[in-house]
Amino acid sequence: MSTKSPDALTVLKTRFGYDAFRHGQDEIIQTVLEGGDAFVLMPTGGGKSLCYQIPALIFPGVTVVVSPLIALMKDQVDALRMNGIAAAYLNSSLEYADQDSVVASLRRGELKLLYIAPEKFFAGGGMFLEMLKQMDVSLFAIDEAHCVSQWGHDFRPEYFHLSRLKQEFPDVPVIALTATADHVTQKDVLEKLGLEDARVFVSSFNRENIHYTVVPKKNSYERLVDYLSAHKGEMGILYTLSRKSAEALSEKLSMDGFLVKPYHAGLSKEVKDKHQELFQKDEINIIVATIAFGMGINKSNVRFVVHMDLPKNLESYYQETGRAGRDGVRSDALLFYGNGDVMKLKRFAEVDGNPEQTRIMLRKLGQMADFCEIRTCRRKHLLNYFGEEFPDTCESCDVCLTEYETFDGTVLAQKALSAVLRLEERFGLSYVVDFLRGSKSEKIRAEHRELKTYGVGADISKTEWMRLIKDLVSMGYLRQSGDQYPVLTLSHKSAAVLRGEEAVTLVQSVHVKEVEAKELPYEEELFEALKSLRMEIAQKEKIPAYIVFSDATLLELATYLPLTLDDMRRISGFGEVKLSRYGEAFLEGVVTYCEEHQLSSKMGEKVSSRKTRVKKESVEKGKPEVNATKQETLRLFLEGKPVAQIAALRNLTTSTIEGHLTFFIGIGELALSDMVSQEKIERIRGELSENGFIPLRALKETLGDAYSYGEIRAVIEEMRRNR
Ligand code: ADP
Ligand code: ZN
Repeated sequence: MSTKSPDALTVLKTRFGYDAFRHGQDEIIQTVLEGGDAFVLMPTGGGKSLCYQIPALIFPGVTVVVSPLIALMKDQVDALRMNGIAAAYLNSSLEYADQDSVVASLRRGELKLLYIAPEKFFAGGGMFLEMLKQMDVSLFAIDEAHCVSQWGHDFRPEYFHLSRLKQEFPDVPVIALTATADHVTQKDVLEKLGLEDARVFVSSFNRENIHYTVVPKKNSYERLVDYLSAHKGEMGILYTLSRKSAEALSEKLSMDGFLVKPYHAGLSKEVKDKHQELFQKDEINIIVATIAFGMGINKSNVRFVVHMDLPKNLESYYQETGRAGRDGVRSDALLFYGNGDVMKLKRFAEVDGNPEQTRIMLRKLGQMADFCEIRTCRRKHLLNYFGEEFPDTCESCDVCLTEYETFDGTVLAQKALSAVLRLEERFGLSYVVDFLRGSKSEKIRAEHRELKTYGVGADISKTEWMRLIKDLVSMGYLRQSGDQYPVLTLSHKSAAVLRGEEAVTLVQSVHVKEVEAKELPYEEELFEALKSLRMEIAQKEKIPAYIVFSDATLLELATYLPLTLDDMRRISGFGEVKLSRYGEAFLEGVVTYCEEHQLSSKMGEKVSSRKTRVKKESVEKGKPEVNATKQETLRLFLEGKPVAQIAALRNLTTSTIEGHLTFFIGIGELALSDMVSQEKIERIRGELSENGFIPLRALKETLGDAYSYGEIRAVIEEMRRNR
């Protein structure tokens, strides 16, 4: 049980304008306030900063924050100052005079938070350290703590000295924070920092608000332009593999009228800084970057990350997509996937003279490709990869939002199996597919061109064949073995198919479900107007716009339409200082808009400050959220309308409607038998008890077309509830 300190909560509300702690924050803060050490592993955007900023405001002395990212320090300090908090930073980017003045105010005990680069910390033969000892230091926070460890991917020698900290200040609590640390690194960090007794807090790495989508890499430029046009004015990062393609893409997009700049290691430092600043300040909205971009960026309103090429491994993918949506607002991660990229990256993965390393790199690449090709929930796959459990569906990745249909794939399977047989089980996926498609490439051996199977699958695209064969492998009709150059071979199930004794059922996607609107609708025009107002203020104060207010705050304003300053106080992100500074200006914007459009306030509908948080909290209290759209479905259903009719009436898919009803079954407000016939319930339960919880798709296949996914899910939901 966590004991919430009222002090911490009050500080959260009055200084930062937030209503509630996110999961884990309160316990971490409590630990630190009680003088204990803490190790915090939380994903980007999880809310690590508040874990030391709030104790800093409650403790009597100063909190010293060690951070390696110089660019971020200024941002953090600006943001704190905006909330009226006395903070400053010391690093090499400051003029000497400014450094002196920071030290002077530190000595006078005026600072609540001091951000410092590690090299400054130990500079001057330990003079700074000695000075600190004369002062009232309440807490040390080590940001990006994985930099301490040589096992981490980002070891920094300057961080090495931090191991002395605990010896020099045995009585000052230390909180170490990072978003990336595997087990080994974590242990190493604790050891290096002398934090063996620290409480360890590990959060879920699920980034709820990021929606993952993988699309075939075909006409990717046109698809990208479509996407960008539909998201005009939003901020995003496009990642490419090479500098050359970053340049080319940036140029092309500029010609097509987008505000975009490139960022990669081939540019001079000045140009890079310039482009990064333009992006930080919302003066351009797209950056085309190679992986060189991102470490030093804290921008919270990045709405999309697009991978034009395949990342090398899932670690990079997670980290890069993680730069979207730090403010908790819905964001997209879009990846263009084509098999050609796998081939290209394979060549890069070869590490000269190090077969072991090569093997690891290739395996990771294979896992990245699997992620793109699977037809199970991407979020689950990603989290499982990092060792975290997750339910079978997330309802917000492309796989979960796609409806599948089965078809008789016996002939296709026979073609694939006989190709493998004719090639004497000695070739890999790519060769087999080229062979099936009758490729004219020199790669295909002359003797193979004579075979009857050569070219029998020319009518199907390469990507489609790749997927089909992977499906055949996962269904056990084929085997794939060998790490570096995997070869396709037949299995014990192949013969029956080849002889025509066994039919093969395959799946194909039919259409993408519409994403259910989870949030209340907001006034788009007002949102844009508020953004301009924010921009004006940001330019006047020479800080990035997201530091004035996050997108999340503006969205709340445009959703709930507060018409008094008191209402404004209830909007997430309005602490007392920001309220008195900017309350009037934003209020006027909202009031004018509402008058012009004859709208009244919707503050009455505001339960808590943010949708995603509402959900989490109510789940914790055992009472999930019921939103208006679900309620409407229930109302129609209770009037006696069948599912299909409700779907038609509401212009939603039947599976969405079934999803709504399942929700009510889950919370016990609707009987399962109202939705699914008794006969079907029994059959589904029967299958489940016989097979255990097999994948939904497999279950659906067994049950046949008369059973919908929605019905199956409803039965499972009720079983869960009963358990
Ligand atoms: P991290 O350092 O873990 O990447 P941040 O500390 O930058 O994440 O927090 C991400 C965003 O979430 C920031 O805009 C922050 O103000 C906001 N935030 C953090 N905690 C809360 C909370 N309890 N309620 C609302 N917003 C929060
Ligand atoms: Zn999913």
